[in-house]
Amino acid sequence: MKRLSIAAVLLFASFSIAQTDHPIVLHAARLLDVKSGKLIKPGEVLVEGDRIAEVGTSVARPKGVEVIDLGDRTLVPGLIDAHIHLFLHPGAEDLQTVQESVPQRTITATVAAREDLMAGFTAERDMGSEGAGSADSAVRNAIDSGQVPGPRLRVSGNAISILSGHEDALGYNPAQKVIPNSDQANSADELVAVERAQFKEGADFIKIYQTGHDEVVNGRFTSPFQYTEPQLEAAVKEAARVGRKVAVHATAEPGELYAAQAGVASIDHANVLGDETIRLMKEKQIFAVPTFTIFEYFAGHAASPAAEKRERDMLAIKLADFKRQVAAGVPFAVGSDVGPFPHGTQAREYTLMVKNGMTPAAVLQAGLINGAKLLGWEGQIGSLEKGYFADIVAVPGDPLSDISVLEHVAFVMKAGVVYKK
Ligand SMILES: [Zn+2]
Repeated sequence: MKRLSIAAVLLFASFSIAQTDHPIVLHAARLLDVKSGKLIKPGEVLVEGDRIAEVGTSVARPKGVEVIDLGDRTLVPGLIDAHIHLFLHPGAEDLQTVQESVPQRTITATVAAREDLMAGFTAERDMGSEGAGSADSAVRNAIDSGQVPGPRLRVSGNAISILSGHEDALGYNPAQKVIPNSDQANSADELVAVERAQFKEGADFIKIYQTGHDEVVNGRFTSPFQYTEPQLEAAVKEAARVGRKVAVHATAEPGELYAAQAGVASIDHANVLGDETIRLMKEKQIFAVPTFTIFEYFAGHAASPAAEKRERDMLAIKLADFKRQVAAGVPFAVGSDVGPFPHGTQAREYTLMVKNGMTPAAVLQAGLINGAKLLGWEGQIGSLEKGYFADIVAVPGDPLSDISVLEHVAFVMKAGVVYKK
């Protein structure tokens, strides 16, 4: 009996992720104050338990403190990715979701979560498990309970789509009855029923495919809408009833307009946005999540010259419209769509949003301040302030003059626990 309990303790000790029992001071040459978009030199953070106790150029050193000197680096809030897929890895998406079992995919997702955390991402929104259903809730719960390392997560289960719509296993022999990666709903009532089932299984929010079958026709970007405004409104109301949000994959009009009218939380991809959609997004603080990295990756990894031309044509239209969106004051969050390209490389999205026309400070505020709001952790993450979770990373150099330093995170702390040093 005695031996068994010791073994149990050892097992727990080796597999659980625990906080240190002493305060920690992080010291570095610089610290990013995200809200003002300015640097504090030098930068120090006092961490007690899972929270930040003090921030400044010289913080208190309580009894028993451990000081970690990070040298010529900048302390930055833990990075946020508002659009990820833990359950996808590079390679043909259709084949992996059809050929790999959900248990296999869950192991892959757990490894991906660790890779994202080690790259500095301490909070993420998983935009659809792509046929793995509520297995994403299991990964979230394992992270939250300290069984495995990973970012804090918001998960949606499968995305919701219409019959014959986006991700409905199109292109297979119909006699094979291939199950779609999405959960299907064809009316407002069906949307509400699917949402309730997903909430029962652990979803934090709802993801809806609002457009599908993207094409460039005569130089114009098109993609048919999947739900009407009243249908989406019913979905948003049902989510709001239990304090949750709806996010849409939407690439073109009029689908995006219907989503904005219905009051979704974010419009992801947002390749081209109409004027009225932009007006509503500003009024209701609906975030656009451009996901440039996935477009860049697909253009660089196309299967044929014709496919590459299609990707590059779409990207050119998207880029031109993004400049228009920035000038019009659209509220943005930062999401990469990582999964189809390798996990742990998605800080590239921050770099691309600067390359495509935003200032580094504006991109950091979109990623961290707006990201925290979108994920439902406003006032808890996304800034280095007293009372916030101690989600802190260190990067070489100055992210305000070269945002790409975020792609080289040297130190990672989440909730006061050091994961990378
Ligand atoms: Zn996605």
